[in-house]
Amino acid sequence: MPRFQFGQEGLCHAKTELLRAYQNASVRYSKAVCELSHNVGLIPEVEFEYLRSLAGRARKVCRAAQKALRAHIVEHHCESRL
Ligand SMILES: [Zn+2]
Repeated sequence: MPRFQFGQEGLCHAKTELLRAYQNASVRYSKAVCELSHNVGLIPEVEFEYLRSLAGRARKVCRAAQKALRAHIVEHHCESRL
């Protein structure tokens, strides 16, 4: 079962894509933060720094995706159209 339905009337495809990208980025970011928090004090400093850099990058991707989604909604006025 697909998470999103395509081709439905009133559906904004661009917004759907941006929303999906944002959701994926959010999941990746929360996983990275989770992994980081579970490894505090358990792994060598250099590995922890690596995980921290991954989480930082994931956060940037997530913010960029959120920004793109908001910018699209503002520009396209499609907030009520999923
Ligand atoms: Zn739109």
